[in-house]
Amino acid sequence: MCDGVTMHLANSTFDPEAAFAAIERVVGATRTHSGRPVQLHEPLFEGKERDYVIDAIDSTFVSSVGEYVNRFEREIAAICDVEHAVVTVNGTAALHMCLFLVGVKPGDEVLVPALTFIATANAVAYCGAVPHFCDVTERTLGLAPEKLEAHLDRVAERVGGECRNRLTGRRIAAVMPMHTFGHPVELDELREICDRWGLPLVEDAAEGLGSRYKGRHVGGFGRVGGLSFNGNKIVTTGGGGAILTNDPDLARRAKHLTTTAKRAHAWEFNHDELAWNYRMPNLNAALGCAQLEQLPTFLAAKRRLADAYVEAFEAVPGARVFRDQPFAESNHWLVAMLLDEPGVPVRDAFLRLGHDRGVSLRPAWAAMHRQPMYLDCPRDDLSVTEDLEARIINLPSSVFIARDHDA
Ligand SMILES: *Cc1c(COP(=O)(O)O)cnc(C)c1O
Repeated sequence: MCDGVTMHLANSTFDPEAAFAAIERVVGATRTHSGRPVQLHEPLFEGKERDYVIDAIDSTFVSSVGEYVNRFEREIAAICDVEHAVVTVNGTAALHMCLFLVGVKPGDEVLVPALTFIATANAVAYCGAVPHFCDVTERTLGLAPEKLEAHLDRVAERVGGECRNRLTGRRIAAVMPMHTFGHPVELDELREICDRWGLPLVEDAAEGLGSRYKGRHVGGFGRVGGLSFNGNKIVTTGGGGAILTNDPDLARRAKHLTTTAKRAHAWEFNHDELAWNYRMPNLNAALGCAQLEQLPTFLAAKRRLADAYVEAFEAVPGARVFRDQPFAESNHWLVAMLLDEPGVPVRDAFLRLGHDRGVSLRPAWAAMHRQPMYLDCPRDDLSVTEDLEARIINLPSSVFIARDHDA
């Protein structure tokens, strides 16, 4: 009961009124301005969004070919410290392609965290493969390297250059960690484990645009990684995603697979394999180009917002705001409050209180091994996932809250 992780149990009981007052101190100005309920995360379009979207319409290039698509890909690659970005219709499609590109096949297993958005597991299932759920750590809210390593030692073996699950007989084909709410996972440790087992590392960096691990942007640490630009993410294209890689052959193949594998020709329709229509339209990329111009401002505002919440929660008994590890520089996409003690009734009563008073609060996702389609999937002990599931509450994190708060 006295190590760092369990120390929080010694704190006093959660005080919902004190916690709500702390949130009000941060979001109060936004409430006064808008008179509307405070949403969890709203997009902000105060740059050149209208100009660029109208320009795309005027050009008639609204679909999957156009200058904004090319420009958006160049800019995303530069921001993410990778050589190539291939943009897609959404983040789930990007993750599906990432797994396909590293050779995940029907009947394989892919190791993923149990605490994640459903898209991580669905991307595995779209390959005909089986998600194999691993536990997370309270240090990062993402995949726990030490538990992953112990689990592999227990259930896996290397046979003829492949990693096999001895219990199911299936090939384990990849490891896909996720940067929860923008907080980077322990990438060095995970990469070392992947190398030891000959497994490709595929980052689900959907929530991580602008996040850095030891100074370097997330998403490019494995062979390939995926981003999302959904409407609730830090930067949006309406719907959209990106495949990130440093491998030129893989980038070429990503583009081919997301454009129906059509061989370049002036008029013939020849497709050399079964592929997808997953390319991001130019109209969406135009919106994205305008959003990227504001990313540095968004990141600075989000850091101030996270700091304001940390400070406001200092005097709140029974809860605290999650903070970065020293190696991490989060984009603070969603600020998370952690109850000291797990308790679904306490959590849900607080969610209800926020709802009734016009402030959107949200629990973490229901863990993957509880979803009906994934009940029978292989898994490690998931005690930290289950503990965190009953303790995490996301707080309103829109960029403009920080600005209203500062004003
Ligand atoms: C948003 C998100 C995705 C991708 O979602 P899309 O809505 O398809 O863009 C994937 N994984 C995680 C963890 C996400 O949060």
